[in-house]
Amino acid sequence: MKAAPVIIAGGGPVGLVTALALAQQGIAVRVFEAAERVNESPRASTLHPATLEMLASIGLIGEVIARGLVARTFQFWDRPTGRMIAEFDHAILKDDTAFPFVVQCEQHKLAKLCIERLRDYRNAEVNLASEVVAVESSNDGAAVTVKSAAGQAVVGGSYLVGADGGRSAVRKALNIDFQGYTFPERFLVLTTSFDFAAERGAAFRSYFSDPDEWANLFKVAGEDGSGLWRAVFPTLPGQSDDDVLNPDAVEARLQKFFPKAGRYKIVHTNLYSVHQRVAVKFQEGRVFLAGDSAHVNNPIGGLGLNCGLHDAMHLTALMAGVMRGERPETDLARYDEIRRPINIEYVQQQTIANKKRLEEKEPAAREANFEFLRKTAADPATHRAFLMRTSLLESVRKQSAAAPRA
Ligand SMILES: Cc1cc2nc3c(=O)[nH]c(=O)nc-3n(C[C@H](O)[C@H](O)[C@H](O)COP(=O)(O)OP(=O)(O)OC[C@H]3O[C@@H](n4cnc5c(N)ncnc54)[C@H](O)[C@@H]3O)c2cc1C
Repeated sequence: MKAAPVIIAGGGPVGLVTALALAQQGIAVRVFEAAERVNESPRASTLHPATLEMLASIGLIGEVIARGLVARTFQFWDRPTGRMIAEFDHAILKDDTAFPFVVQCEQHKLAKLCIERLRDYRNAEVNLASEVVAVESSNDGAAVTVKSAAGQAVVGGSYLVGADGGRSAVRKALNIDFQGYTFPERFLVLTTSFDFAAERGAAFRSYFSDPDEWANLFKVAGEDGSGLWRAVFPTLPGQSDDDVLNPDAVEARLQKFFPKAGRYKIVHTNLYSVHQRVAVKFQEGRVFLAGDSAHVNNPIGGLGLNCGLHDAMHLTALMAGVMRGERPETDLARYDEIRRPINIEYVQQQTIANKKRLEEKEPAAREANFEFLRKTAADPATHRAFLMRTSLLESVRKQSAAAPRA
């Protein structure tokens, strides 16, 4: 294909999946990533069935399963009483998807896998230590100014995808408002080798409701596959990094969560601000926003990265069709028309509701939540409907029904 390459700002999982999906369709891509290497700090890990279908379509599913952990079930617990309230099992989706399970695969593994695969394409390049510092868009192309050790250079292409994360320089350069809010509390992630499945009976994804301090537990494979657990807690507004991260505070928090003999072995700590924000538009001329540059949300339910990967797959299907002359260029407007409302309906609304459910303080409302979860899990029809929504399969099926040609 002779067209100028598609430029991708940001080599996180969304930018790299965008690049791979385009390269596989014969389209030249140039990725510019500010960091010198893939960021390995603990971030998203949950890949839902709808996303697994997409990763299968670009030939990554086998490696993602091999590098991650298959998690069929997830659980809701009442933390103060230590009672499990409900368990959901993706096996009920066996007639809906070829992947009736979740894969817990750390996002840096997905990013590295894409970089490995992109090496096979002569029309693809991934430039690390290359920061996009300015953006220009015209009627027939887009250009970025890239700052690297070699200095600054202007690079032109046919389209630009801003996949440069929540603080997106591309979004800011285009003055696109990032509407929403930031929570007053931060989220703390403690990674430990302690086995919460063997010792506490927790599923690989477990959510703990508590009026005083909700918690989430996730198991990930870790680098050697031996397994690590991430425990997630809210901090109090105004608490300093040291208040939260000093070793005694970390130990006390985990002992309060699950008392045990001896200290917890901590592998990693991570403290971060959490937002619910959506860009007011996902397209400006020949520039598109995808992933966290377009939307951010709290991680309860593990939806943000999944939705970003769905953005990547939808955008690349449209873009490849246009660049091959199979679609009119006006079809590119479908990206914003379809993906933005889907993010609001399925990701913003669900993650806000998930957080409310876990932190609810009113006893009657807590009991009503528990009753809802118990009843939903007990009836196969509601169990399935609940998982169709939480797994994002419903959003993907709705998208296909609304726009059969992507
Ligand atoms: C600290 C933290 C913890 C998180 N924890 C969880 C979690 O537990 N569960 C969950 O579901 N989600 C979590 N998330 C959210 C999840 O990580 C994101 O949804 C996901 O990373 C989105 O992928 P992305 O590729 O859109 O953006 P990113 O992964 O942020 O990738 C963007 C890339 O762009 C690069 N970049 C930035 N600016 C420029 C520039 N100007 N030029 C070139 N490159 C640039 C960055 O270096 C980065 O590599 C977390 C996010 C953060 C920040």
